Amino acid sequence: MAIIDSLNRPLHDLRISLIDRCNFRCPYCMPSEKFHHAYQFLDKDRWLSFDEIVRLAKIFVGLGGRKLRLTGGEPLLRPEIDRLVRQLAAVEGIEDLALTTNGSMLSLWAARLKAAGLHRLTVSLDTLDESVFYRMNGEKAALKEVLDGLRAAEQAGFKAININAVIQRGVNDHTILDLVRYFRGTPHTLRFIEYMDVGNQNHWDDTQVVPSSEIISMINAEFPLRKIGGTQDGGTSEIFCFKDGEGEVAFISSVTKAFCGTCRRLRLSADGKLYTCLFATRGTDLGGPLRKGASDEILGGIIRQVWTGRDDRYSETRYKLRHGPQALPKVEMYQIGG
Ligand code: SAM
Ligand code: SF4
Ligand code: SF4
Repeated sequence: MAIIDSLNRPLHDLRISLIDRCNFRCPYCMPSEKFHHAYQFLDKDRWLSFDEIVRLAKIFVGLGGRKLRLTGGEPLLRPEIDRLVRQLAAVEGIEDLALTTNGSMLSLWAARLKAAGLHRLTVSLDTLDESVFYRMNGEKAALKEVLDGLRAAEQAGFKAININAVIQRGVNDHTILDLVRYFRGTPHTLRFIEYMDVGNQNHWDDTQVVPSSEIISMINAEFPLRKIGGTQDGGTSEIFCFKDGEGEVAFISSVTKAFCGTCRRLRLSADGKLYTCLFATRGTDLGGPLRKGASDEILGGIIRQVWTGRDDRYSETRYKLRHGPQALPKVEMYQIGG
């Protein structure tokens, strides 16, 4: 039986950040003026080891958790990640093992990840316009690298890949329909994400958010849509199919249609801190006790205490929390990976 938080939400997913570094500098996540060459990322010895991660994953399953997502920073920068995937795929009770990547190194890794037992992939791709793409990754990679990576993933046997596209008004909203046309008719699901005020560095303001309702209308005018699924079962997206049978498209509307009521995700940073919300101010240290020799019971007890005490619902209270007297700094997205 899964443990329940103070708002009656079960613990179901664990998102594990394997590394806080990234080869991209997407301005909405890690703007390069802040994350420059002298920026101090975690020392490598602070990263949880593979054995430590697997041990925590087993404790998580013992508390009723069923789904793991590996993320970052950029998870494919973590050396020998396929070895970790193999170990996690063998953990009994894990029903879903997924990974989110910027896709730029997938050509190298896709076949090895598949062979190691990874179930599902999410690839982030905000636009198909080369110059817009280059700007949106902080001038670090060419579009071709990600498209080649996607092709490698398909060839490796990943069938239905989630494609995450963050949409920012005035930046890539004019390229939405190109993305739709490209992925329509494939088994992949293009998921539009509303630009969020994660972290403290991206100078977010709500005029840059393109509401999902606006994107749905735009797509529907050219390719009629029918809604087939919502966030009620703990997912983050509302799913639509094309009425002509040419596949699906989804929308993650954390700003205009918050889904905190069904949020069942716990997050673990690369150095072993637990966060119960994407917008949390503080984490709870699990890595410290783990390295000091805490038993599985004690570590499980910490997770249980963190989850049962959880009352986060940031997206439902965003405007009060941002502008009220209690506005607090937030964890950065690259530390916990979405
Ligand atoms: N580096 C990997 C990648 O980009 O896929 C994994 C980590 S990244 C933090 C996870 C997801 O968060 C990506 O799909 C990214 O687009 C999304 N993301 C980052 N900053 C965001 C923001 N400000 N608003 C909405 N989504 C964001
Ligand atoms: Fe890196 Fe992903 Fe953040 Fe972009 S969104 S900077 S790829 S961690
Ligand atoms: Fe979950 Fe926090 Fe996002 Fe709400 S704002 S859905 S509680 S991560």
